[in-house]
Amino acid sequence: MVRENLARIRERISKAAEKSSRAPDAIKLVVVTKEAGIDEILQAIEEGVRDIGENRLKDALAKKESLDSHVLTWHMIGHLQSNKAKEAVKLFSVIHSVDSAKLAEILNKEARKNGKVQDIFIEVNVSGEKSKFGVQPKGIEAFLKEAETFRNLKIRGLMTMAPFTDNAETTRPVFKKLKELADANGLKELSMGMSQDFEVAIEEGSTMVRIGRAIFKQ
Ligand SMILES: *Cc1c(COP(=O)(O)O)cnc(C)c1O
Repeated sequence: MVRENLARIRERISKAAEKSSRAPDAIKLVVVTKEAGIDEILQAIEEGVRDIGENRLKDALAKKESLDSHVLTWHMIGHLQSNKAKEAVKLFSVIHSVDSAKLAEILNKEARKNGKVQDIFIEVNVSGEKSKFGVQPKGIEAFLKEAETFRNLKIRGLMTMAPFTDNAETTRPVFKKLKELADANGLKELSMGMSQDFEVAIEEGSTMVRIGRAIFKQ
């Protein structure tokens, strides 16, 4: 099942890329395993998956231990409390959910202690929903200004989550806006698009899609 689902998703990623005249390999698939068991993750690894997304530190730690014979890139995609920053820097190659300059400052400090440059995305609350974490669009400039001195962070780009919907088309303005914000601030990468809306996200310039349910729940 995982195998067929992955093949289908990869095909859809390629098609969405072609539709917008982009190279399919310009879009990285992060496989979100928060609702998957080790067996299912192993099936994904067998199909060539190397980028794994988790939204909880504890789950990621347990899974990483079970899978430690595999060389994988671990992505933190969920909300990160600052008292967990230390552990997160040790666990994750990429943190997609940096939602305040304060958190960035703490991550920078922890990365320095670990002799590491930590890759991050700035999470942006484009839709303005109260339930969502993220920097407000108008706050990005100030965030970047503050982060200028954070030598142990590499800001790869912007990340967002679109509102839940059963009509992916309604998410398009959110993705368009994130792309505009990235361009305006000289940032190259965009972590956007989930099972419900990844094709629209790719059409709008996503460079990293984070997909779980469509791989493990169908
Ligand atoms: C769960 C999650 C995803 C994946 O969502 P699916 O609907 O399972 O594809 C992507 N990004 C974040 C931040 C998530 O928490």
